[in-house]
Amino acid sequence: MKILIVDDSKLSRLTILKRIPAAIKESAEIFQGANGLEAVALYKEHRPDIVFLDLTMPEMDGFEALQLIRDFDQNSWVHIVTADIQAKSQEKVLGMGAISVEAKPIAEKRLAEIFAALP
Ligand SMILES: [Mg+2]
Repeated sequence: MKILIVDDSKLSRLTILKRIPAAIKESAEIFQGANGLEAVALYKEHRPDIVFLDLTMPEMDGFEALQLIRDFDQNSWVHIVTADIQAKSQEKVLGMGAISVEAKPIAEKRLAEIFAALP
């Protein structure tokens, strides 16, 4: 399995990384990006099975990155992980095809559910 984690906060990336179920982490290839530009480039290069994407980032934010990833791959599986839990932002990204919106910090139990629900 290929996993892409994108957040401008290294700590936020590491929090997700640490909480990925061990059984999955063992055999996964995990890629990390720090902004939307990197998210899109890494997505196109590696075609990850699942993406964890922050919204507020420099260079290119998560909204724009999500749009470009969706344009590139309509089957992309992107979970938004953000401190921006405004209803308007949630509606917007879900309308764009994100699978879910998760508040930071994402709980270990919730991550397990997310991986269990992967198609
Ligand atoms: Mg951020």
